[in-house]
Amino acid sequence: MEKHFIDKKAEDFSVRPNIMEYAQEYASFKWEDVSAHFEGLPSGGLNIAHEAIDRHANGLLAEKTALVWLGENGERRTYTFLEMKKQTAKFANVLQTLGVEKGERVFTLSTRLPELYIAALGILKNRSVLCPLFSQFGPEPILQRLVRGDAKVLLTTKILFEKKVRSLLDQLKDLRYVLLIDAEEDESDQIRSLPRLMENVSEYFDILPTDPEDMSVLHFTSGTTGMPKGVVHVHKAIYTHWMSGRYVLDLHEDDIYWCTADPGWVTGTSYGIITPWLHGVTNIVDEAEFDAARWYSILQNERVSVWYTAPTAIRRLMRLDTNPRDEYDLSALRLVQSVGEPLNPEAVIWGMEKLKLPIHDNWWQTETGGIMIANLLSQQIRPGSMGRPLPGIDAGVVMHHDDGSVSEITEANKEGELALRPGWPSMFRAYLHNDEKYANSFVGGWYLSGDLAYKDEDGYFWFVGRADDIIKTSGHMVGPFEVESTLMEHPAVAEAGVIGKPDPLIGQLVKAFVSLKSGYEPSEDLRRELIGFGRKRLGVAVAPKELEFQQSLPKTRSGKIMRRLLKAREMGLPEGDTSTLED
Ligand code: ATP
Ligand code: MG
Repeated sequence: MEKHFIDKKAEDFSVRPNIMEYAQEYASFKWEDVSAHFEGLPSGGLNIAHEAIDRHANGLLAEKTALVWLGENGERRTYTFLEMKKQTAKFANVLQTLGVEKGERVFTLSTRLPELYIAALGILKNRSVLCPLFSQFGPEPILQRLVRGDAKVLLTTKILFEKKVRSLLDQLKDLRYVLLIDAEEDESDQIRSLPRLMENVSEYFDILPTDPEDMSVLHFTSGTTGMPKGVVHVHKAIYTHWMSGRYVLDLHEDDIYWCTADPGWVTGTSYGIITPWLHGVTNIVDEAEFDAARWYSILQNERVSVWYTAPTAIRRLMRLDTNPRDEYDLSALRLVQSVGEPLNPEAVIWGMEKLKLPIHDNWWQTETGGIMIANLLSQQIRPGSMGRPLPGIDAGVVMHHDDGSVSEITEANKEGELALRPGWPSMFRAYLHNDEKYANSFVGGWYLSGDLAYKDEDGYFWFVGRADDIIKTSGHMVGPFEVESTLMEHPAVAEAGVIGKPDPLIGQLVKAFVSLKSGYEPSEDLRRELIGFGRKRLGVAVAPKELEFQQSLPKTRSGKIMRRLLKAREMGLPEGDTSTLED
């Protein structure tokens, strides 16, 4: 595939980027220096909620809007940092009243309501562990996570409780309380009305000493490659959040920031709750699900300046083939970042054409707790590349040898496993109930990510695919991402998922599943055209030999294409864990 790079010029920036010289900043960066941007608790230690909310509420930002909440039905509510301080204090006091202790797990299962955000920080104030669940999970995945995560309290809404939780209660003997966000009265000693509890508590709460290594958040991974893993994080993670907020999201105090991810996924907590508030920035929360017109209107009406979203959403916008700049005033928007899946070069180009801004890709995982590799605002973008490691992050491409040892591949453009040198502050501290898997993730002084990548001469990392998804065909290794991105260059293609289908002659055969943009219909001619298109661009060895149309591809609820499902279905095998499969 031909590569086009996008250069940046000083006049591209309406605000001077926080990082101008990558190499210099990378060389001089020290994690210790980040602590100067935190206040620390009066009682000692470091607590996320204090740094994100209370210290602003106690200072110059008290009356500044922290949260803008957009309700599904057009309601708009705002909360200042001071109000957030009081509300989160009350929630922490509620937990105190109920005897919920440090380290105990408090789960949330809610649509994106203000109470969810208040509770998240209140839980951290109480030094309990925040365990967010995605509200669209069905009863089985909810039960599984509550049990595995040792839930003591569940915060939810009446509707979600009735639909999904009530029938599980007799299997949840350790669940002491269910707090209902919208119930007027308590139902029992166990099932309580949150508003009633909040009425009777103080709006002052002194956070007790918090060790930076105290557990803060328990997140489950997306389940793209198998059974979701519980991933444990600590308060110290905010060093990474602060750093990446500064360098990747380029947060400045008067930014209006919108992260479209749900707190049920790590992006929605690390970057939908914690990071913007660490920087004292106004944070937009939209209760509703994706809708192109609604989203463009939010960007316009709220004057969003920094937008953090995902490839799946961008592909949906691309599919519509509209000209948002003609229909909406997006003049405030100055930076678009994307994470979660590989961002096809075509999407970056679409951004340039339609949003008049390139889309910046960045890479991280639930396990890394924060962004590790990114395309920075001030730096050249290489569409299709995830960018370069952030200051403080040591990333490499490594080879896992048969004897179990690991060595770094220093040669440019050579594929291997993407790995990080352990020790960055937001590194996960455990896989829940799986010490062995945790230990096995660290080999030879590296954390092994399970993703394959290569690094070019200038240190940009290029995603190849997940180790599990790599296709071995006629002696070649083919990464699905490259094939998918090429197919997406064809005007008819909206999304593509590529797998290796076992084949007796060539090991695996490259098979593509494709969904089409509006205005195109599946046909034998189009199928042949796409296969020919792939051959011309990729060569016969790499191009798909088979291609099948699908209405839409199976995705996780966080929007990732589930290639393992495409493969299982193709081969008639059991589908495995589908708890995160989108409806
Ligand atoms: P599971 O671990 O349960 O299979 P998951 O890996 O999808 O699920 P997450 O932690 O949410 O769970 O996702 C991290 C993964 O998402 C990365 O390991 C990578 O495969 C993919 N990913 C994230 N960002 C990017 C990106 N910018 N480019 C390519 N892949 C990305
Ligand atoms: Mg993973």
